[in-house]
Amino acid sequence: TTRTRASAQPLENADELIASVETFIFDCDGVIWKGDKLIDGVPETLDMLRSKGKRLVFVTNNSTKSRKQYGKKFETLGLNVNEEEIFASSFAAAAYLKSINFPKDKKVYVIGEDGILKELELAGFQYLGGPEDGGKKIELKPGFLMEHDKDVGAVVVGFDRYFNYYKVQYGTLCIRENPGCLFIATNRDAVTHLTDAQEWAGGGSMVGAICGSTQREPLVVGKPSTFMMDYLANKFGILKSQICMVGDRLDTDILFGQNGGCKTLLVLSGVTSLSMLQSPSNSIQPDFYTNKISDFLSIKAA
Ligand code: PLP
Ligand code: CA
Repeated sequence: TTRTRASAQPLENADELIASVETFIFDCDGVIWKGDKLIDGVPETLDMLRSKGKRLVFVTNNSTKSRKQYGKKFETLGLNVNEEEIFASSFAAAAYLKSINFPKDKKVYVIGEDGILKELELAGFQYLGGPEDGGKKIELKPGFLMEHDKDVGAVVVGFDRYFNYYKVQYGTLCIRENPGCLFIATNRDAVTHLTDAQEWAGGGSMVGAICGSTQREPLVVGKPSTFMMDYLANKFGILKSQICMVGDRLDTDILFGQNGGCKTLLVLSGVTSLSMLQSPSNSIQPDFYTNKISDFLSIKAA
C-alpha cells in the first residue's frame, strides 16, 4: 500500500515547531556548513535553541572523519558543539558492531577512509584495510591467488577516495568465502558535493561495487536507515515524536526522519531546490520547508 503525504508546507511559525519538540537532529553538510564554509546565521540559531533548552544532535553520512575529527571542525567554524553530540556514519558503523557484540577476536575489513578506522579503534575492534590498502595494479601471473585473512567477520564500506580493484577483490573474498561475514555500508549516497562546482560519486558507488561482485545487499547504518535514530532515541531516552529532523536532502535526511516517526524540516540551503521538492517526480514530502536554519530566528507566528 502507498501512503500519500500532504505536500510540504512553508515554515510559517517557527516558534510553534520549536515548542513542539525537545530535540533537533541536524544534518551537517548543507545545513550547518557547505564543505568548509559555515552557513549564515548558524551559531546564533544553535545558541537560541540551546537557550530554550533544546537538545541538539548532529548526524552526518560523511564517514571520512571520526566524531573527534568533526569536533575539531565544529570548533574551527566557531561552533560550540561537543563530540558526544556528533553522530557520523563512521561512528555508526562501530556502534552497530558494538550493538551486536561483534567478537573482539574477529576482524573488520575496511573499504573507506580514516574516520572509520579511528572509530573502530576507539571501540576496541581489530581491523585491516583502510585508505592505504592495495594501491598497485594487481599482477596476475599464472596461478596467482589472492590470500585473505580468514578472521575477517565483517566488511565495512564507506566513501573512499583511494578506492581500487585490490580492495574490491579483498572485500569480495571476505564476503563470498565466509557466508557469515557481515556486509555493512556507512551510507549509500549516490552523489556528494565535494566541490560546489560539481556533483561527485558518493559512498554509494563504493558500496555498489561490492554489491555487484557479491550479489549481497549491505546493512546500512547511516541515513536513511533507522539504526542511528533508534540508537539516539535509546541513548538519550527521547520519544521520536519529540524529535525534529532537519536536513537538505530528501532521500537521506527527510526519509531518515520519516522512517523514525519524527517531524521533518527541509532546508533549501543545500542540495535540494524548491522546484525539486515540488517536482511531480518527487514523492518525499517533509512536514515543512524553509530556506535555512537561521529562519528560526525571524519566522514568527503571523
Ligand atoms: N559523504 C561524503 C563523502 C560527503 O562529502 C558528504 C557531504 O559533504 C556526505 C556524505 C553527506 O554528508 P551529510 O550527511 O552531512 O549531508
Ligand atoms: Ca546534507
